[in-house]
Amino acid sequence: MERILEVSNLSVSFHTYAGEVKAVRGINFSLDKGETLALVGESGCGKTVTAKALMRLNPEPPGDIKEGSSVKFDGEEVLNMSKERLKKLRGAEISMIFQDPMTSLNPTMKIGDQIAESLKIHNKLNKKESLDRAAKMLETVNIPEPKERINNYPHEFSGGMRQRVMIAMALACNPKILIADEPTTALDVTIQAQILELLKNLQSTMNTAIILVTHDLGVVANFADRINVIYAGQIIEEGTTEEIFYEGEHPYTWALLSSVPRLDIESKKELYSLGGTPPDLLLPLEGCPFASRCRYCMGICREKMPPKTEISENHSVTCWLKHPSAPRIEKPDLLRR
Ligand code: SF4
Repeated sequence: MERILEVSNLSVSFHTYAGEVKAVRGINFSLDKGETLALVGESGCGKTVTAKALMRLNPEPPGDIKEGSSVKFDGEEVLNMSKERLKKLRGAEISMIFQDPMTSLNPTMKIGDQIAESLKIHNKLNKKESLDRAAKMLETVNIPEPKERINNYPHEFSGGMRQRVMIAMALACNPKILIADEPTTALDVTIQAQILELLKNLQSTMNTAIILVTHDLGVVANFADRINVIYAGQIIEEGTTEEIFYEGEHPYTWALLSSVPRLDIESKKELYSLGGTPPDLLLPLEGCPFASRCRYCMGICREKMPPKTEISENHSVTCWLKHPSAPRIEKPDLLRR
C-alpha cells in the first residue's frame, strides 16, 4: 500500500500559568492510502491533540509542537508549511469532522452555502456549480431531497443528519485523509452504527484514509484496520484490530477491553471500570505512566520507563511484563475469541 502520512517523534506541549503540560510525548505512526487507523484512549490522553497537530490546528501559542517532531503528508513536511500552503492542505487534502455537529455548523448559514464554501475556495467553482456539488454530496450521504435540503438551516436537521452533513462537508473536496474525532459520541446507538457504516462505504468508494479518534474500543471493532492505544500522551500498544482485541498485551488495553460490552461471552459480571486517574502531565514522568493504576505493577515499573517490545510486524507494546525476566501472568479471559 502507498504511504500517505508519516508521523515521527511528535511531541506537543501547552504553556500554561501552572507550567508546561506535555500533552503528546514522542508519538510515531504511519498511515497508508485507503487505510483506517484508530487512536484510542480516555479523555485527556492526547489523542485529539495528536490528530489536530496533523493539520496544525492546535492554537500556537499556547500549543507548541516541539523541535524534532515531524509530520509528513505525501512526503511533504506539514510542520514547515507556510500559512498559504496550510490553508490549501486543510479541507482539500486533510479534513476533519468533530464530535458535536451542532457546534461545528454555523447556525445562521444555509447548509448548502456551508458545504459550497470550501468548494468555492479549493476547487474554484462558481456559486451555482458549488451548490450543485453540495446537493450531490448531500445525496452521497443519503439525505433525502438534497436539492431542497441545501436551503435548510442546521436546526432543521436531526442530530444524525447533521453529522451526515458534516461528513458531506468534510468529503466535498475529496481529501486524501479524513480525521473523525469522536464522530458518533453525541449520537444514539442506532444512529452511531449508521454513521460508521456510511463512513466505511464512502471510504471504499473514495479511497480516503481515515483516522478515527475515540475513547470507545467498541466503536472501532468493525471499523479500523489498525489501533494505536494512547495513554498519558504516548502510544503504549499498537497493532492490527485483531491483534489488539485478541492478543492485546498491555494492562491498559485489557482495562479498555473489559469495559466494552460483549454479547459473545456469557457473563453476569458487571462491566469493568478502571479506578484512579492518569498522571499529571505537568510533572515529569518517572517509570511507567500507568503504574499507579496497574494491578500488575512491579518495583521496576515505578523506576524506569518500560522499553517497547516488538511482538509482530505491526504489533508492539510498552510494558515491563514483556521483559524476559518478568513473572508469567495469566491474561484476562476477555481476550477469548
Ligand atoms: Fe503495569 Fe508495569 Fe506494565 Fe506499566 S510496565 S503497565 S505498571 S506491568
